[in-house]
Order: sequence, then C-alpha cells, then structure tokens
Amino acid sequence: MRDVVAKRAVVIGAGFGGLALAIRLQRAGVHTTLVEKRDKPGGRAYVWHEDGFTFDAGPTVITDPACLEDLFEGTGSRLSDYVELLPVNPFYRLCWEDGATFDYVNDQAGLDRQIKVFNPDDVEGYRRFHQYSEELYQEGYVKLGAVPFQSFWSMIKAAPELARLESWNSVHAMVARFIKDPHLQQAFSFHTLLVGGDPFKTSSVYALIHALERRGGVWFAKGGTGALIAGLVKFFTDLGGDFRLNAPVERIELEDGRVRGVTLEGGEVVPADMVASNADVVHTYDKLLGHVPRGRAKAKSLKSKRFSMSLFVLHFGLKTPQPQLAHHTICFGPRYRELIAEIFKGPALPEDFSLYLHAPCATDPSMAPEGMSSHYVLSPVPHLGAADIDWDVQGPLYREKILDYLEERYIPNLRRDLVTTRIFTPGDFKDELNAHLGSAFSLEPILTQSAWFRTHNRDDKVPNLYVVGAGTHPGAGIPGVVGSAKATAGLMLEQAGLSKAGAHA
Ligand SMILES: Cc1cc2nc3c(=O)[nH]c(=O)nc-3n(C[C@H](O)[C@H](O)[C@H](O)COP(=O)(O)OP(=O)(O)OC[C@H]3O[C@@H](n4cnc5c(N)ncnc54)[C@H](O)[C@@H]3O)c2cc1C
Repeated sequence: MRDVVAKRAVVIGAGFGGLALAIRLQRAGVHTTLVEKRDKPGGRAYVWHEDGFTFDAGPTVITDPACLEDLFEGTGSRLSDYVELLPVNPFYRLCWEDGATFDYVNDQAGLDRQIKVFNPDDVEGYRRFHQYSEELYQEGYVKLGAVPFQSFWSMIKAAPELARLESWNSVHAMVARFIKDPHLQQAFSFHTLLVGGDPFKTSSVYALIHALERRGGVWFAKGGTGALIAGLVKFFTDLGGDFRLNAPVERIELEDGRVRGVTLEGGEVVPADMVASNADVVHTYDKLLGHVPRGRAKAKSLKSKRFSMSLFVLHFGLKTPQPQLAHHTICFGPRYRELIAEIFKGPALPEDFSLYLHAPCATDPSMAPEGMSSHYVLSPVPHLGAADIDWDVQGPLYREKILDYLEERYIPNLRRDLVTTRIFTPGDFKDELNAHLGSAFSLEPILTQSAWFRTHNRDDKVPNLYVVGAGTHPGAGIPGVVGSAKATAGLMLEQAGLSKAGAHA
C-alpha cells in the first residue's frame, strides 16, 4: 500500500473531521487542499452572526480537549494560541416536569449529595457505574478510539475485553443495572442522544462518555464553537494548507481504479494523489462516486443501514439576560423510553418533546450584545425516512409550540423579550449539509454498525480514497470525528510513505 510519490491530498468538507484530517496531513508534509461547499467552515459546527448575537449551529459541549490539543503536537503551536477554552459548570442541568432537578457537576461530594435525594442506595450504584464507565473508556476510547478497523480480524482482536464489559447490552440497560431511580437512569443514559444514539439500543460502550466528561471536563470555546472552527482553519492555513470555501465537489475522479482528483461544480479539476471525503458517507458514494459501479454498490449498501434521528434547532436572541439558566439544560418531557422510540421509528412528529437548551452567555457573555442573551434549543425529531414531514409547513408551527413551552417553564417573558429567531430543520440538514435522510449524526451507533461494521476509513476497492467524519469509526461527536481523522490520517500517511498505519499521525 506504500506510495512514496503520493504527496497531494484533497479533503472534501470542512467539518471537525475534515479540518482535523487536513491539519494532520498538512503538518506531516502532504500538500493538502480542503474544499468546502458552504460559505463558512464547520459543517454541523457552522455559525451565524445576527444583530450582534452569535448563534452556533451545532456542537456546544466540548469534551476531551486533549484530542484537539493533539492536533498541534510537534508543530511548535498550541491550541491556546488560536482559541481559549472556558470550563463549564455545572456540566449540565437536568430538569423534569415533576419539578426535580439535577446539576451534573464534576465533584464527587456534590454528585453524592444530589443522588442521595433521589435514592440513597444509588450513591453506591453510581460509584460502580462510574468504575464501569472508566473501564469502557480505557478499552473503547483510549485503545480503539482512533484505530482504523480495516479488517474483521482487527475487530475480533478487540472483542474479548468489550465482551467482558457486556457491550451487547444497551447503555440504558447497564445504567439500570447500577442505578435504580428512574430520573437518575435518564441522567446517566441520555448522553448517547448527543451522538445520535438511542440509549435503549446503543451499545453500552458509549457509556464511556461519562468517564470522558468526568476526566476531561466540559468546555466552551470563548466566542463560541465557531471561534474554535475559525482557529483550526487559521492553524491549517498557517501550516501552509490551501483552504477553499464555496467550492462544492461534484465528483471524485477515477482513472484505472484509482482516484486522481475531484471536479468542483463549475468544472474546475483539483488534482490529487489521495482524496478523503468528510461529506456525508451516502452523499460521497451515491453522488460524488455514483458515476462508477463501486460508488453505486457502496451507496446501495449504506442506504440499507439505520440512520440516526434528525434535529429541529431553534435559535433565538433575547433582549434580557437569563441568569436563572445554566449553560446546558436538558429539559426532559413527560415521556422518555416511548418518546425516544417514536423519534427513532416515526411515523410522525411526536406530540411531546424533550429539549436541550443552550444558554452560552452563562459562560461567555460576548455571545450576545451587552445585557442580552443568545440561545438555541434543539428537539430530537425523526429523520425524513422515518417521518416524511413537510418542514416548511411544520417548522414554524413547531417553533411556536417550543417557544410556548419554554416561556411556561424556563424563560418567563420570552415572547416579550424576543429579538430574533431562526430555525434549522431536517430538510436543512439534507439540503445544506447533503445529509442522507436529513440525519443529524449519520449512521446510527448500534453495535452492528460500529467498528469494522462502520464505513471503513479507507475504501475497500479504491486504494487512495478515504472517508472521515461521523459516518466512519468511531462515530459522531467532536471526539469521535477527531478520532476518525487520526485513524484516516494514519492510513493516508502510510500510503504517502510518511508513517505507519496506526502510528501517531
Ligand atoms: C445540533 C447539533 C448539536 C450537536 N452538539 C454536539 C455537542 O455539543 N458536542 C459534540 O461533541 N457533538 C455534537 N454534535 C455532533 C457533532 O457536531 C458532529 O458529529 C460533528 O461535528 C460532525 O463532524 P463531521 O466531521 O462528520 O462533519 P460535518 O460537520 O458533517 O461536515 C461535513 C462538511 O462537508 C461539507 N460537504 C458536504 N458535501 C460536500 C461537497 N459535495 N463538497 C464539498 N463539501 C461538502 C458540508 O458542507 C460540511 O461542511 C452535534 C450535532 C448537531 C447537529
């Protein structure tokens, strides 16, 4: 697989995964061009600046900052040269309709005190869950989080430890084994939703997120996640990388079974010895490679898989501060298991909802004009394949329903103080981000779609074609896609004769 002359790469898409990969390639000496279809980088982590408000489109919970710092290793620069990360406390505030609340903090005494209020026995149960999560973190994240699973055997080698940890069970099933109170079961299982997984179906390996948060903390980039993306873009161009916006790729060009570059909409050809796509995996194979049998065959197989739910995202600016709100609030609705089942299966938009409410001014007041506050609220909703909703019609109605709910329970006088709103629907995930079925997180992270079963970081048939991002191993979320970039970079640098696969890239 070595190819010592392969020194020019094109990366398609400037999401976290594409950016992290482009940085790793460029810093290792591969001349890298990063092409992004939209007018700004970030993908799911796009940003809008409106009337003095900063609205991050997607990720706001930054975990494992070490995976971002790792991108700078050996370059003489540091993440803190480009962006400042601020600690978030509490990590999350969880609120239920019966009035119960739980501040998920990173301090054992504070956790114990709150757990005791729900159920004294769960204090010990939580300790055992935390220990379990730690073991998963070592096995699933430290050992395997950035390893490319190119062969079935590479996965089998990892299987015994994960089997010992009962990874065939769901996150919720394992949490329920340790913790008995239903509120606390929700508090320690909802995290899979942040990476597109149903807590009742997602492999318990994902319970490692708890240890990841306890170890590395929860952070917010000063100026918002958009500032973190801008910092990574600047770092890439400082390294000499070539970055192009408004440059949608129309097709990946092949000759004699090998990639030789990409053609942009408009006809410009960007030649390359290696191409990696950070675009949606179905879009990559179906549209960008649909002109060859390999693309069509892989797209067909991908379309038969299960995709994560979508999201309805509502941004709003208020002319008042909201000091009663924590930075991250999970607003649990009246149902948990049943609601999640309807979100993942459809066939319609559920009547009730559970929400995530973002109040970044709690950590960084510069996210809004002085004395004001910027917010977003997101509601997990079925993807377009599970519920074919006309979001042009439903979107504005759903916005009103959510605003009413927030005003009643979380933000008094919300409507009086409303300055601006914007919505992003499953239809926008599909059209703006080329996301298959408008899924917000790509392939659903179930056991049979994880590791080797997920899209391989290097294509099985086209030796110099790679994929990176949420649809590849290990999966969605910033640490996931940054880990996938490390796995893909290892393979690409091996091909370029610059390192061994799996070695530090
Ligand atoms: C609302 C929301 C909230 C989230 N919150 C969190 C959170 O708090 N913490 C967390 O860790 N994760 C969170 N996630 C998940 C996380 O944001 C994503 O998993 C991750 O950002 C996806 O990165 P990616 O590398 O797969 O690329 P994407 O962000 O999917 O980017 C892909 C890029 O490819 C571009 N592209 C597509 N087609 C083409 C083409 N033909 N030519 C050129 N470019 C193309 C797209 O425009 C896009 O910029 C959230 C996701 C969403 C949607």
